[in-house]
Amino acid sequence: MGQAGQTAPPEQSTVPFTVPSFAGEVSDAVVKVLDSGWVTTGPQTAAFEQDFADYLGAAHVVAVASCTTALELCLRAMDLPPGSAVLTPSLTFCGAINAILHAGHHPVLVDVDAGTLVPGPAEVAAAAARRAPAAMVVQNQGGYPVDVAALAEAAGLDRTRVIEDAAHGPGAARDGTPVGASSYAACFSFYATKNMPIGEGGAVATSDQEFADRIRATRLHGMSKDSWRRYLPGGSWRYDVKNLGLKANMTDIQASIGRAQLTALPEWQRRRAELVARYDEALSGLPGLVLPQRDLDGVQHAWHLYQVLVPDRDAIIAELEAAGVSTSVHFIPASHMTAYREILGEEECGAVPVTDRVAEELLSLPLYPGLSSDGQDRVVSALAGALRARG
Ligand SMILES: *Cc1c(COP(=O)(O)O)cnc(C)c1O
Repeated sequence: MGQAGQTAPPEQSTVPFTVPSFAGEVSDAVVKVLDSGWVTTGPQTAAFEQDFADYLGAAHVVAVASCTTALELCLRAMDLPPGSAVLTPSLTFCGAINAILHAGHHPVLVDVDAGTLVPGPAEVAAAAARRAPAAMVVQNQGGYPVDVAALAEAAGLDRTRVIEDAAHGPGAARDGTPVGASSYAACFSFYATKNMPIGEGGAVATSDQEFADRIRATRLHGMSKDSWRRYLPGGSWRYDVKNLGLKANMTDIQASIGRAQLTALPEWQRRRAELVARYDEALSGLPGLVLPQRDLDGVQHAWHLYQVLVPDRDAIIAELEAAGVSTSVHFIPASHMTAYREILGEEECGAVPVTDRVAEELLSLPLYPGLSSDGQDRVVSALAGALRARG
């Protein structure tokens, strides 16, 4: 709303890489929690867990502070011997590698298929042959739901030793089963840029009641009863600590935002799919551009990212930025980062050649429900100009 005497802001001259959407009901929901006198983990968190479980079709959901802590809590709850080998794509977010290391284990890097940008069974089997894994983290890169059963088989692992990094996963499904619906351990993110933003937050979806109970205790120090339950009528001040936990709980303020956001998510997913169809049509046939090949047979993509491969990537990013179009890259591989090169060693970091190659060409274009068709047209014409100038 403009104030008297104030001139209209200049027309926004850039297309941001991402802008979080918030449902209209969010403000009222937050104020209600503030007025209720209970702001940390409590009734809203329990209600959000039920709402998100219903959305996914999952048996149990435990809300936590982030996807990164969700991954660490799941690894800890699996009680693997210290220093166990855990398979992970190198082409992933650093937090997912940190979770393995902080849980006391050893990441073993898996290469990706150049077409789908995720490890396929062949890449998983090759990594498992280098070092026999005790567990594996798989990732739904960009919102593409990987075939968890096929990857588990390729790794020689039971499904109870596979953790899904589903940070990009809400809204994705394979053969009609939503990501997280039948998982032993699927970890979601509600970080500001993700498909269902809260700002910060995460969740574990699991088919196993006992696993859910462990995560529920270890998200809050390992206390046998969280403070909300201790203050309920009939609650007691006593608690025990049976397994060491983290401080990784979700607050009721976050949970109330999440509940409001969930009501808008299906519409946002519809808009993402619409924008993707427009990109596919407008970008097809541009010189040098590779649209990642996606086997969409029986697959519902969550469209968290629109990733393409381009030649001369760094220069194109700078040209797009100069034209007012912000982009990003997902991801700088773990094998290129200083800390992991030191911890894992040069040989291990050299074991993912396809990742090394695509890492130089990856480009993520703006994709979010609030992106207007005009904004998207600007992205397309800036990218088309940069590519045509290179022939
Ligand atoms: C964002 C992201 C995470 C981390 O999520 P947080 O909720 O910020 O901890 C983990 N894995 C992938 C693939 C991500 O994109």
